[in-house]
Amino acid sequence: MDETVLYSVDDELKSCPCCGGQAILRCGSVNGKSSNVYSIVCGTCGLSTVTEPTSIREDSHGSIILRESGADKVIKLWNRRVSDA
Ligand SMILES: [Zn+2]
Repeated sequence: MDETVLYSVDDELKSCPCCGGQAILRCGSVNGKSSNVYSIVCGTCGLSTVTEPTSIREDSHGSIILRESGADKVIKLWNRRVSDA
C-alpha cells in the first residue's frame, strides 16, 4: 500500500493508548486503484487501525447521495479505542 502522511491531528486524534505517542492519519491507495483508504498509525510504536475506504452511495441516476469519509471513520475508531483502553 502506498501511503502518504496527510497531517497529524493534535486536536482530533487522541494520543496512542499503548505508548502515548502522536497519532498520524494516513491516506493510501489499494493495489494502485484510485479509491482512497485511510488508517491511523502511531508514529512512535506503529500501532494502527484497520484501513477504511471512503464510501460513496449513489441513487439510480448515478448522483452521489452520501459520501462517508474513511478518515472520519478511522478517527472515530481510534478515539474510541483510546477511551476504551
Ligand atoms: Zn504508540
